[in-house]
Amino acid sequence: MEFIADFHIHSRYSRATSRDMDTRHIAEWARLKGITLMGSGDFTHHLWLEELKNNLEDLGNGLFLYRPGTTGAPAGPSGKKEVYFILTAEISSIYSKNGRGYRVHNLIFAPSFKTVDRINEVLSRVGNLASDGRPILGLDVEELARIVFDIDENCMIVPGHIWTPWFSLFGSMSGFDRVGDCFGSHTAKIFALETGLSSDPAMNWRLSSLDSFSLISNSDSHSPGKIGREANVFNCELDYKTIREVLKTKDRKRFLYTIEFFPEEGKYHFDGHRLCGVRFSPSETRAHKGICPKCKKPLTVGVMNRVEQLADRPEGFVPPGAVPFKNLVPLEEVIAEAKGLSKGSLSAARDYLSLVAKYGTEFNILLNLSKEDLLSGFPKAVAEGIIKTREGRLTINPGFDGEYGTISIFGDDKGDAGSEKQLSLF
Ligand SMILES: [Zn+2]
Ligand SMILES: [Zn+2]
Repeated sequence: MEFIADFHIHSRYSRATSRDMDTRHIAEWARLKGITLMGSGDFTHHLWLEELKNNLEDLGNGLFLYRPGTTGAPAGPSGKKEVYFILTAEISSIYSKNGRGYRVHNLIFAPSFKTVDRINEVLSRVGNLASDGRPILGLDVEELARIVFDIDENCMIVPGHIWTPWFSLFGSMSGFDRVGDCFGSHTAKIFALETGLSSDPAMNWRLSSLDSFSLISNSDSHSPGKIGREANVFNCELDYKTIREVLKTKDRKRFLYTIEFFPEEGKYHFDGHRLCGVRFSPSETRAHKGICPKCKKPLTVGVMNRVEQLADRPEGFVPPGAVPFKNLVPLEEVIAEAKGLSKGSLSAARDYLSLVAKYGTEFNILLNLSKEDLLSGFPKAVAEGIIKTREGRLTINPGFDGEYGTISIFGDDKGDAGSEKQLSLF
């Protein structure tokens, strides 16, 4: 079956996360968005794990059906769209190796609560898992991999948002240049990478060394409404083993495409200093020799610049076997801009809910509805906004140094001139 999956979110036990990040709200929003499979996030946290165990029914195939409060016999079908969970967590590793400091985030996927319990037991001897839903451990990533794969070789480790400057595998401030330098003797067991909000697959295609990896995209959401802002679309059996095999073999017949932010929207696309109000493209940074003209300190080097440093291919190169992607703007943002409302306004939220109620799910609207359906069933400006985002006709001020980029769909757009963005594979 075809389904959409978002593997990376955080529970309310993670720092700076909405109190609504509980299983009920996550499942509700997954239904609105049209997501069938959610990563649990935060399985290392004991209170969150308890909530998961209480509200998820073990299907015995590595996936778990959202079914609140049922610990006994399975009830009949709920009549609603079912939401499934897969057990995931994120670990922040802060450590030094060969005299250099590294900070790397990794997602861990586990096929059962039994495996999760054993991972937590070992990791709790290394650091305090209760302190945060995304715990910080002083653990070399190579050692983390040894621990996890020793416990269960069916686990998956996926380096998270691999380009963000401060906390990632390739981060400009505290990362590595090669996957193998990070994972050492366990490198062969790593077969997927998370591209993160600030990069899209096309940017990653510029590194031939990444060709063998599946590139996945997730929301890393800290609030229910942001679930699915990036996601993965599969056409395969809904079970852990199959999903692992699809990612491991990078099977394009079963891994159809990813759903992406426009990468410029991400918090670290460009370089700069947020507090100094300095936002630079990579060439501007080069012209300033990497130094902030305002405070004279080194600039935070963003994702685009870092990709260019490591790339061995020109922009626009598409490697054979690449899984395609589609860039989208969340429906509520399109509505808000079409109607001249502020992001997060009640009126935009009301329109959002009524459109989703009418057309099933947000992704059905954004991905599947024909132009004709959009133009006949939606307020004209909203329909046009969706069509324009599908075609990549929008203006974006790139994000930098922790500040999200801003999108303007209608902005200074005069017909089709100037600011068009080429959308690769819609
Ligand atoms: Zn992270
Ligand atoms: Zn500065």
